[in-house]
Amino acid sequence: MKHDGENIMVILSSPSGVGKTTLTKKIQQKYRNFKISVSHTTRAPRSNEVHGVDYFFVSKEKFQELINNEEFYEYAKIFENYYGTLKRNVDNTILKKDIIFDIDWQGTKQLSKFKSLKLIKIYLITENKDELKKRLIKRNQNSKEEIDKRFKSFDEDIVHWKDYDYIIINKNLDNCFKQLEIIIDSHKKREFIFSHKSQ
Ligand code: 5GP
Repeated sequence: MKHDGENIMVILSSPSGVGKTTLTKKIQQKYRNFKISVSHTTRAPRSNEVHGVDYFFVSKEKFQELINNEEFYEYAKIFENYYGTLKRNVDNTILKKDIIFDIDWQGTKQLSKFKSLKLIKIYLITENKDELKKRLIKRNQNSKEEIDKRFKSFDEDIVHWKDYDYIIINKNLDNCFKQLEIIIDSHKKREFIFSHKSQ
């Protein structure tokens, strides 16, 4: 894939429950040129989720077919379900828009292998583990078992922070968003300058 325009790709990863989805949506609202990458998943939709908007919800058989046909840039098994990013969705979007990915560390590692992609990799964490547990309970999206599972995976997840370009601590959503804006704005400016220099 060619990625030589001035559009950028931002990856936002975090342990489950840190506030990534809220921030991703805030970015899309503020920056009209940003498109959230919609992944495929075998997980069942939550009551507020819409097919084609939050995810493309597909069967395990369909997902396996997409793997066999090498249609994914990356995919991973997370909490018993599969999640993946389709090549064609990214390739079509990046020609017109910036992209933000809400994917985990496994997907980030796989995407990083495509050296032509101008990725900005950001890892989001909470101040401490207690705060994470509070958030997982408060958002009320998961059963007790699921909350425990997500909480336990925190230690495993966080060791991958070193694969990222930036680490942001989400103490306060507004501050966290400001930091994200600074990162995005500086990269957008850089890409603008580079792409106009080479013309
Ligand atoms: P959830 O089930 O809560 O929507 O997402 C669980 C985890 O899957 C989150 O950490 C999210 O970032 C990750 N995820 C969502 N889509 C993808 C994807 O396409 N690829 C990878 N590797 N991870 C994903």
